[in-house]
Amino acid sequence: DAAINRIAAGEVVERPASAVKELVENALDANARRIEVAYADGGKTLIRVTDDGHGIAAEQLPLALSRHATSKIDGSDLLDIHSFGFRGEALPSLGAVGRLTIRSRAGAEGAQIAVAGGLTQPVKPTALSQGTVVELRDLFYATPARLKFLRSDRAETQAITDVVKRLAMAEPFVGFTLRDVSGGGEGRVTFRADPESGDLFDALHGRLARILGNDFADNSLKIDAEREGFHLTGYAALPTYSRGSALAQYLFVNGRPVRDKLLYGALRGAYADFLSRDRHPAAALFIDCDPHLVDVNVHPAKSEVRFREPGLVRGLIVSALRHALADAGH
Ligand code: ADP
Ligand code: MG
Repeated sequence: DAAINRIAAGEVVERPASAVKELVENALDANARRIEVAYADGGKTLIRVTDDGHGIAAEQLPLALSRHATSKIDGSDLLDIHSFGFRGEALPSLGAVGRLTIRSRAGAEGAQIAVAGGLTQPVKPTALSQGTVVELRDLFYATPARLKFLRSDRAETQAITDVVKRLAMAEPFVGFTLRDVSGGGEGRVTFRADPESGDLFDALHGRLARILGNDFADNSLKIDAEREGFHLTGYAALPTYSRGSALAQYLFVNGRPVRDKLLYGALRGAYADFLSRDRHPAAALFIDCDPHLVDVNVHPAKSEVRFREPGLVRGLIVSALRHALADAGH
């Protein structure tokens, strides 16, 4: 069983950033308003995600660690999901690839459970405020072959930062803190975004300024368009904004960060008259549609999507952005 978990785990957890993604998504699913991600040594020795969400009851802790146990789906309609998680694979996978401790408080008292090398220890009481703290130490310590494939601390830190910023962009009403605790102690805050307020566009604009800078926020166009059940909202840079890059392209489908060739291509296509092919227009764009019109679960760890009607989606993006650019005098 430990071996099966370890093999399956490799599918879900490729590197520290994928562990961070799973843990932050769990915190979001638990309706956290504030989430802190701490890491040491590029996440290789420590990843700790703290949230103020609804927590896990003591008697549910062992279940949270068992494969395919999830509290987020009833099994009737796999496609119709609104939470990030639903496979029940992340925590058991993390327990198979590192030393995992979960401390959580859902009611009056907190409890903790620890698992290492697939061996689970009994639940113990622990003092803690409302919410959950998941700590993953020594990722891949039992699988040196995988450890070898990790990149430098700096590169892994960059990947963690990117994952956190993408999720922070998707959830502007939630506060995020990213802290490098390499070397111990309080560490150093490397990114911070307080919960935004106002309507969704206000909140997104505030979060954009936080993540991409005031310069982008002040030099971008509001996008709000709809076509045959697909809604496109967000902000896209004016062609005069010069600091676009692949890292400054934030795309979301039904609230999830995605990296999808079709969508990147559509974005590039919209700016074809303004930017050369090697330039990346900065944008934060959200596509929302009926979950049945898109498959976001092509692969658990990848962020590809498959639209039923890719041409329609591409057309919507290109025409909405071109109209916005034309309205702004371009
Ligand atoms: P999934 O998210 O697919 O359900 P996971 O393995 O990520 O599977 O988590 C297993 C279960 O543990 C979740 O269904 C949820 O009930 C619980 N859980 C995990 N993380 C948290 C958290 N931060 N706050 C509250 N509950 C959590
Ligand atoms: Mg999950």
